[in-house]
This record gives sequence, structure tokens and C-alpha cells, in this order.
Amino acid sequence: MLKKILILVWLLALASFLYSEPVQVEKSGQSYTLEAQRIEGILHISVSDLAKIFGSEIYFNSLTKKAVVQIDNHSVKLSLFSPYMEVDQTVYNLTYPVQLVQGDFYVPIVTLVPILELICTENIFWDEGQLTLKFERKELNLLGYQASEKSNGILLEIFLAENLRYEIYTSENRWLNLNFFSAKVNQVDFPVKKNSPVKEIKFYPLEISTQLSFRLNKTFVNYRDEVLTDPLRLQISISTSNHNSNSNGNPKNSPKNFDNLVDVIVIDAGHGGQDYGAIGPTGLAEKDVVLDIALRLEKLLVKEGFKVILTRTDDTFIPLADRTQIANSNGADLFISIHANSSKKRSISGSETYFLAQAKNDEARAVAAWENSSLRFEKENPEELSDLDFILLDLVQNQFLKESSDLAYMIQENMGRKLPIQDRGVDQAGFFVLNQAYMPSVLVETAFISNRGEEKLLKTSSFKQKIAEAILNSTLNFKEKYEALAK
Ligand SMILES: [Zn+2]
Repeated sequence: MLKKILILVWLLALASFLYSEPVQVEKSGQSYTLEAQRIEGILHISVSDLAKIFGSEIYFNSLTKKAVVQIDNHSVKLSLFSPYMEVDQTVYNLTYPVQLVQGDFYVPIVTLVPILELICTENIFWDEGQLTLKFERKELNLLGYQASEKSNGILLEIFLAENLRYEIYTSENRWLNLNFFSAKVNQVDFPVKKNSPVKEIKFYPLEISTQLSFRLNKTFVNYRDEVLTDPLRLQISISTSNHNSNSNGNPKNSPKNFDNLVDVIVIDAGHGGQDYGAIGPTGLAEKDVVLDIALRLEKLLVKEGFKVILTRTDDTFIPLADRTQIANSNGADLFISIHANSSKKRSISGSETYFLAQAKNDEARAVAAWENSSLRFEKENPEELSDLDFILLDLVQNQFLKESSDLAYMIQENMGRKLPIQDRGVDQAGFFVLNQAYMPSVLVETAFISNRGEEKLLKTSSFKQKIAEAILNSTLNFKEKYEALAK
């Protein structure tokens, strides 16, 4: 009963902050007015009106308090009182939570419009002063594609209206992923055709780029890309056989690691150069300890027959983005970043391993924030990643989430067995260094350099050797498990 009264009081209080205001909508030559609600100063549009604008249906689930509305072939999912909105499988942040007014969901217009723009076939202009919402045909710059099968491969052509910056990378199960920056594209221009070597096409509207993923009918070993004119197009020659590959030595075009073997490992010693990382009570620098461990691990892995690439072999500064670039261009199977942890509380101790995902707690967030702060040593700081940003930036990482978390647990288990320090377990957080890695990747916080006892341990060869051995054993465990699964 008390609950009911409280809800009533709350609804009355909320009502006093509501002001409805008319918003003019112009779309497809039609013009009409809808009632928006100003809630705590922010203008909101109802989901019913949103559906009306796009001529689509809404599905409300009163149990889960979610609404789903179709917008230009995308399914948009809203949760009551949550600022997160899901488009297909991607999460976006509306900043302001979805509100309930007279039985309808209300969404903040100012933050909704830029998200709609990503998925909508029209440009949207929101004028907060005039209270007008205008829809105009998009000037597209990705016009369509053509795919044809050749004797030794597949020719894929993407037709362009202007030169666009792009990136290409491949992922398992015959996916070729093209990332176009500032792309304006209409999904209907990229249909899957019958008897085409392209079996499936997926669209991922990211924050600054649009990813088009093509699943091909054949396993490929190599590709070459170039932009041609008349008509302007990106031509990708995809070689589906091992013979006569046209590699020209450029890492971007060199054969990628498409086998199912776990045999190329990138070891990333954290920090370096002017970036010391954390410093222990007696002055031991994280950058030196982690390089020592990385070099030990390299020796062990090479002895087991792995191909090993280190992001740094001496005391130099390597920007975070370059570290994963090294891993991606070498077709690495695993990316292992080695660090030493630090806390203002000197008593805190132990080892823990992270994989990239949204931070689940403040502590994990703090560790990520600290490690990401290496960015401050870089000349052009990539913008700081918010908790949710990395989801937008990197959908690809998701496919390695399971493997990454598996590897993280294996490392913790082996370290727990070998090291005489506390096992703090596995956690997840948004690390920049792991963000762009297109492979399973983990960040190992070997021990607390800020803890007097553990700083002392980190100075000893035997302790560092044990850490290297624990990571080696985990790599072997991982290799065994995933190579067996691939068979
Ligand atoms: Zn570190």
C-alpha cells in the first residue's frame, strides 16, 4: 500500500515537471505536428509518434518494460528508465533515460536524432529553436557492390560516389569486413544476390564509420585492395587458393593467418620510454619489470614452437593503438598484455587478469582508467573511451569475448597455482590496448608493484620466471582446447 502511495506521489511530482510542446515534422513531402514532452528541461518524443513517423509498429512488453520499434529494417529496442538503446545488436547511449508518460515511452530527441541518422535512409535535421524535425534524402557515397567468381578467387567491387577512408580486415568463418569512414549508405543498395560468392552481408553503424561485412562462399587466403576510377570503386581481389598469391610485402596485403592453429602470439610489455607505468615504494618501475617478464615468456614460447612477436623489446614508448596494430598485421592468434598493478592502498596485493568488456565494477574501471592513461603520453590522444564507447567502436571484439575470457581464466588458474600471492581472479574492463585487437586478448596484472612485499617479489628472477611459466602453460592449455575444437 505504501508503495502505491509513493508511486502516486512520484507520478504527481513528475507531472508537475511536464510541459507538452508542439514539434513540426517534415518528411516525404508531408508536414504535421506532434506533441513532445519537456521532461526536466529535455524535450522527449513518444515511441508511438516515432513509429508513426516511420510508418511502423511498436511492440510493448509490460513485463520486461521494453518497447521494440522497427525503423527502416532495423529493430530499435528501448528499456524504460534506461538511457541505453539497442539497434539490432548494438548498444547506444541516449544519455537521458527513457521516461514513462501516460502509458507511452518517451525518448530524448536531441540524443536520439544522431543515432537514428546512422540507421535511417534519410538525413535528419533537428532544430531545437524552431522545434522542427526535418527528414531529407541522404546523398549516398556508398552506392552498391558487385561480386563475381574468378578461376582463382573472388572479385568484390564497392561503388563509391567519393573517395572514402577505409579499413579491411578478415575474421573467422569467411567474413571480409570493410570499415568505411563517413559512409552514407542505404542498406537496400547491398542486397544478397542469388548464385553470388557473397552469401551474407551485415551492416554495423559505428560511431565514426560504417562496417559492411561480407561472408564469402569460400575460405580465402589473401586479398589485395585498390581504388579504381571510371567508375570510382574499391576493388578487392580475394584469392581463394594458396597458389599465385600476389603479396607485395605490404603488411596490409600480406597473407593473413587463416588457419585454425594457435601459433602466433603477441606479447605486449606495458608502458615503456617516458611512460614508466606504476612505480613501487622503493622505485621499481612497472615498465622494466613487465619487459623482463615479456622477454622470459618469449623464450619459453619460442622453445615450444610458437611464433612470438613482442610489441617492444627495449625501453621505448609504443602508442597503445600501434600495439594492437602490430598484432593485427601479423595475424596473431593471441594478444597478451603484461602489466603490474598499483593501488593507493599499499596493503592491496595479488594477481588478476582482465579481458576486454564493459567494466562491471568501480575497481575494474579504475584499473582500466589507469592503464588507459598511457594515452596521455601520446601526441594525438585518441578520445578517452567511455564505458560504452568501446562497444560502439568495436563490435568485432565481441566474437572473441568467450575466447578472451577463457584465456583469462586459464592464466589466473595457472598463476594461482604457481605464485605465492593472492589470486584476485578474472575481471573485465574497457582497456584501450585491447580495444582494437581482432583476436582473443587479455591484460595480465601480474602483482601489485605498490605493495612492498610484491615489489620485492617482482625484483626476483624466480618470481618473474614463475609468472612467465604460468602464462606459457595457459597458452598451451588454450592451444590444446581451441585446436581440438577447430577439428
Ligand atoms: Zn600498466
